[in-house]
Amino acid sequence: MRKTFYYCYDLEEQEEMLRQCMNELSGYISLPPIEISYKFTELPRELEKDVREIFSQSDDIFCCEGKLCQLFLERHEDFSRLLVICPKTSRLAKAYLKKYPWGVANISLAIVYGLYDKYVIWHEMLHLLGANDCYDLSESDRGPNCECPNCIMQYNATRANVRNWPFLCDANIQRMQKRIQEWK
Ligand SMILES: [Zn+2]
Ligand SMILES: [Zn+2]
Repeated sequence: MRKTFYYCYDLEEQEEMLRQCMNELSGYISLPPIEISYKFTELPRELEKDVREIFSQSDDIFCCEGKLCQLFLERHEDFSRLLVICPKTSRLAKAYLKKYPWGVANISLAIVYGLYDKYVIWHEMLHLLGANDCYDLSESDRGPNCECPNCIMQYNATRANVRNWPFLCDANIQRMQKRIQEWK
């Protein structure tokens, strides 16, 4: 079944930047060595109001995820993944900022606080495609613990650390391909 990756934002002036950022990522992952072609689409307007309502009710990512699944089910939409860009001052961001300073992701919901760095957005987006983190939160050295020195799944996924494509380790490429296979 075709899966859709929706994204929405709370920072309208940066709408174009977000669109470019998504197009760039879908371009990279559709080429070898990953070769998965998925379109990232803006959340339809008719769903936006209800989605905002869900986020205003709770600051728990698991709770929001459950309610989103329910909402999309009721609307007969093929809910798969949602990336939300919200301000650092938002309720959700505040709940997770301490542990995850840039963003947080679960199986089908990713939250990024602000559009400061496209690498942070890509990191969380790749979680939605099946990638795992390449760092250990309990260790002081949180550089990538995989074989890819500029892996984007490291703790501090900044332009300086990630640099240019390709920026994913083999283990994550395989995880993503496997996840996509399971969806088909
Ligand atoms: Zn992560
Ligand atoms: Zn890695």
